[in-house]
Amino acid sequence: MDERIATGVMGLTLLPLEAAPCPYCEQEMRFCGERSWCSQCSEWRYGPAKEYSLENADAIDALEHHGKEWQIRTEGSKEYGVWVWKPNDGLALQGSWVIAVADTLAHAACLALLRSVGAA
Ligand SMILES: [Zn+2]
Repeated sequence: MDERIATGVMGLTLLPLEAAPCPYCEQEMRFCGERSWCSQCSEWRYGPAKEYSLENADAIDALEHHGKEWQIRTEGSKEYGVWVWKPNDGLALQGSWVIAVADTLAHAACLALLRSVGAA
């Protein structure tokens, strides 16, 4: 998953963790590697960067999060095709399939999702 998937498909907001206040008490959080700690609330906060992934399971999560119809097909032995339904004008029954083929499932899913939201 890359930044465009995080923002365009998953709806995550990219904030530098060290600049983000605690969502509960708004105190400045202490940045520790890939996460931040609020000593007042004892809360950890993880950044969207932790969500970045090349894993197939995360690509499927993104497809499911998108909530539109989708299919995965294998194209030969080394390529994956991902079909994502893109409704026109928000009408679920009218639209078209956006198709992307790549050498990994995760890459094909990302391309298809980005095309379906008009980001690629
Ligand atoms: Zn707090």
